[in-house]
Amino acid sequence: MALIVQKYGGTSVGSLDRIRNVAARLKKTRDEGNQVVAVVSAMSGVTDGLLKMAHELTSQPSERELDVLVSTGEQQSIALVAMALQDIGVPAASITGRQAGIYTKGSHTRGRIADIDPSMMNAFLAEGKTLVVAGFQGVTPEGMIHTLGRGGSDLTAIAIAAAIKADVCQILTDVDGVYTCDPRIVPNARKLPEISYDEMLEMASSGSKVMQSRSVEFAKKYGVVFEVRSSLNSNPGTLVLEEHPAMENVVIRGISIERSQSRVTVTGIPDEPGMSAAILGALAEAEINLDMIISNIANDGYARHSFTMHSNDLGKAQAALKPVLEKLSSNAKIETESGIAKLSAVGIGMRSHSGVAATMFKALGDAGINIGMISTSEIKIAVTVDERSIEEAARAVHDAFHLDKEPV
Ligand code: ADP
Ligand code: ASP
Ligand code: MG
Repeated sequence: MALIVQKYGGTSVGSLDRIRNVAARLKKTRDEGNQVVAVVSAMSGVTDGLLKMAHELTSQPSERELDVLVSTGEQQSIALVAMALQDIGVPAASITGRQAGIYTKGSHTRGRIADIDPSMMNAFLAEGKTLVVAGFQGVTPEGMIHTLGRGGSDLTAIAIAAAIKADVCQILTDVDGVYTCDPRIVPNARKLPEISYDEMLEMASSGSKVMQSRSVEFAKKYGVVFEVRSSLNSNPGTLVLEEHPAMENVVIRGISIERSQSRVTVTGIPDEPGMSAAILGALAEAEINLDMIISNIANDGYARHSFTMHSNDLGKAQAALKPVLEKLSSNAKIETESGIAKLSAVGIGMRSHSGVAATMFKALGDAGINIGMISTSEIKIAVTVDERSIEEAARAVHDAFHLDKEPV
């Protein structure tokens, strides 16, 4: 008998028929002699709908109340899944994040899991029940509801798998696994049999929303091997695990895209110690997540700093920078550009293969796509392009690395 955690995402519980399908799959897993803990997201569209209502009601809803509001989405779906299980004769119980002993720290709307007390989960499992746990939510030690950031049910599932020492952790979703690129954008993308934690993490944090990036970080930290697979068929999925030597033979594992990016460039900053700290400090204080950061010295001897961020943060960034720049230099200026997108190519094979950037840039050049900013890490090359050409850019780079073909 194995202890299995199965996470079902929003689309997988998006209608009553889909909920019946989930119940049938859970029953099958149980009938095969396993103990099952299901972690369930809100029905698709519910979290977005609740957030929309809050923002229609007030321009600045309190984050505490947002957590109370959006966590109700998961509470609906767990009860429905438990009822569907009971309806087909499976003893089942739904439990909220608090009942599952998921303790969080950090801020509202982006809580972090600090600890899990699995006693209630273990008690229900000992009674022979199939458990249906609300994803995306936990409580602080003081009893405040926290949510875990968008896509946070992935984190709930992986953290529970670690806490109850599950034998298997499966993320069941609306695609068959992790592909070389989002198959909605690159139709000939190929399903990967396996991907390393580091590659999955880079892809997730650069726009491949098939997994929440923090859940992958957690899985790596606690060594939770998990599989991404479809909730609608029984095709083998993609294993996400620690890298092994054979993985380095593949240069690029996958490509991610991220839309709705903006660039801020600050010019006319004296080339002196402490300037970058003042500028970046102001943005950090305003809680703006910067992505690419590029600084250099222009011909006029002044420094020039460019950053990219999500376009939603652009106004906040401009407001945070204005007073600091006034203090730093009378020559300081801010330029902004919106409507850009980021394309990232990820692969641990980059560590041992050269010429990767050249192939990527040539593919984009041949497709007539202009590159804005470039940044690299040990296992990623990222560029910005005009948002209107991002899909064409993804297909061009996917083709240039022959990602549709099985590596030889
Ligand atoms: P869930 O609701 O199950 O959590 P998500 O919508 O969060 O599902 O994630 C699944 C979606 O991720 C897919 O429908 C697909 O469009 C998208 N996606 C983005 N990049 C990839 C990728 N590299 N491989 C597979 N799916 C991807
Ligand atoms: N319902 C939450 C969201 O839409 C959490 C999740 O689906 O994982 O972000
Ligand atoms: Mg998701």
